[in-house]
Amino acid sequence: MSAPATSTTHEVFNQPTPYGGYNFFERDVALRQALARESAGWAAPRLSAFAQELGDADMLRHGYLANRHAPELQTHDNFGHRINEIHLHPSWHELMRTARRHQVHSLPWTDAQTGSHVARAGMSMLMAQVESGALCPLHMTYAGVPVLRSNPQLAAQWEPLLTSTGYDPRYRPAAQKGAALIGMAMTEKQGGSDLRANTTVAQPTAEPGVYAITGHKWFYSAPMSDCFLTVAQVADQPGRISCFLVPFWLPDGTRNRFSIMRLKDKLGNRSNPSSEIEYNGTLAWLVGEEGRGIRTIIEMVNLTRLGCASISTGIIRQTLFRALHHAQQRSAFGAKLVDKPLMSNVLADLAIESEAATTLLMRLAGSVDRANAGDAGEKRFARAATAITKYWLAKRASPSSFEALECHGGYGYIEDSYMPRFYREAPVQSIWEGSGNVICLDVLRAMDHDPEVLEPVFADIALARGQNAHLDRTADWLRSATADRTQMEPMARRIVEKLAVCLQASLLLRHSTPGVADAFCASRLGGDWGQAFGTLNASVPFAGIIARAWGEAG
Ligand SMILES: Cc1cc2nc3c(=O)[nH]c(=O)nc-3n(C[C@H](O)[C@H](O)[C@H](O)COP(=O)(O)OP(=O)(O)OC[C@H]3O[C@@H](n4cnc5c(N)ncnc54)[C@H](O)[C@@H]3O)c2cc1C
Repeated sequence: MSAPATSTTHEVFNQPTPYGGYNFFERDVALRQALARESAGWAAPRLSAFAQELGDADMLRHGYLANRHAPELQTHDNFGHRINEIHLHPSWHELMRTARRHQVHSLPWTDAQTGSHVARAGMSMLMAQVESGALCPLHMTYAGVPVLRSNPQLAAQWEPLLTSTGYDPRYRPAAQKGAALIGMAMTEKQGGSDLRANTTVAQPTAEPGVYAITGHKWFYSAPMSDCFLTVAQVADQPGRISCFLVPFWLPDGTRNRFSIMRLKDKLGNRSNPSSEIEYNGTLAWLVGEEGRGIRTIIEMVNLTRLGCASISTGIIRQTLFRALHHAQQRSAFGAKLVDKPLMSNVLADLAIESEAATTLLMRLAGSVDRANAGDAGEKRFARAATAITKYWLAKRASPSSFEALECHGGYGYIEDSYMPRFYREAPVQSIWEGSGNVICLDVLRAMDHDPEVLEPVFADIALARGQNAHLDRTADWLRSATADRTQMEPMARRIVEKLAVCLQASLLLRHSTPGVADAFCASRLGGDWGQAFGTLNASVPFAGIIARAWGEAG
């Protein structure tokens, strides 16, 4: 028996239009304004062109596919030789190719004009709105360049490949390639945050500056990179950690000796392979001074921390934007969700969080630019604010992306919505490159080296002095809480959080609308808030804040 000709069970309606085609830069008022403010207005057309490509439905799909099809490790070839190769999905390669063409990994090193770190951070934030796994190797490559410059010979060999706008994923010696990636392997099983607990040993060889390394690393992401920076103790000098460059291929064209033991099965960040490796006489070239490896590699870590902040900001922004797309088209109980007072409270609250994150990220990136140009005050600001910003924006990405996911109802919990991927991606921003506590303690460490390091942060906060009583009161509390360094450790999280929120408040009061700034200060500093998003006071101008976040109002 055949089915009847007309067997329609139902009509699909009250669903949003397919997501895609948005220019995430042009729609982001806060980002555009911050870019101009931080001396990178010249880069607006670049960011707009990049965002136009990223927002295309095909590119969004690449982000999805690169995460659905996890990387695979091939340890040996058909004949039993160790090869350590990773197979990645074509969508991963497409994302990498696009990002490199737009210089997400290199802009400040090839185009060192004022604002280039700001422009690059903005591009990273845009990229994170599509797929952030690929940003791991892109950020490590960006951050690795200044470290390599401390060894001019290595820099001459690698920098042109690391900064090229090409992308070459083939397993070939560097001399046969037009582009390269660099990774970073520090964490060991017995100690990650505490690098001085490293047991891996580097034995000098007959060739000056070249060592043979034996030991292991428990985390090494993007192990398909052409080279990576690692740390080890020089033999017979326990505790003296040095930094080394390990090339995948040796100068004679053979593979360097190390073993990728396995790929990690991760909560999120699934497009990007993270591995465990063992060194067994691995040849490595010294970078920086012997015994000063932590100081050498920390330069890289400071820039990858900026990367964690830009990814967190991208996640906060994109999940909000998707929630707005959904809530403006989905109706319940006779009206669009966005017009329901309680939903508009949630969306406005997320919008405030997103704008605060964006302004702080861009302020930090601006300080990196100015510090590199020789501004001593901004160097100090960047030293403290990198940790402050990384800590707080990473902490906010998880609750923010969860709340935006819930705005989608049940659909938000389903992979089709892409929301679970953003939610899974958020926590790692808080863990890698220094977990929450370690980052807060880093602010204290900065104070130990330079007791005045917080002064430029306080000066920035003070630029809005007198504009908001909640901000003034919290800034005064911060002054007293940081007066005695010896008492600060147990309070470090609260202090660092308040420093971040005060910086955000000061920036919003000076540069955003009164609606956004006042709501931010009243809720985040004045206690006029609950413990979840969507608990702003009813007097907040929800509609205006939402319109600004959607890109319809200045
Ligand atoms: C997906 C992923 C990819 C990674 N990729 C890389 C990579 O490519 N290269 C690399 O080198 N590493 C990588 N890591 C490792 C990462 O940087 C470390 O996991 C991280 O720095 C924390 O180190 P740990 O795991 O040893 O934790 P621990 O150092 O054991 O810390 C555990 C907890 O204790 C806290 N803690 C530590 N010290 C103190 C203290 N003094 N006071 C109070 N609390 C403290 C920490 O904040 C943390 O919450 C990756 C991690 C992940 C999850």
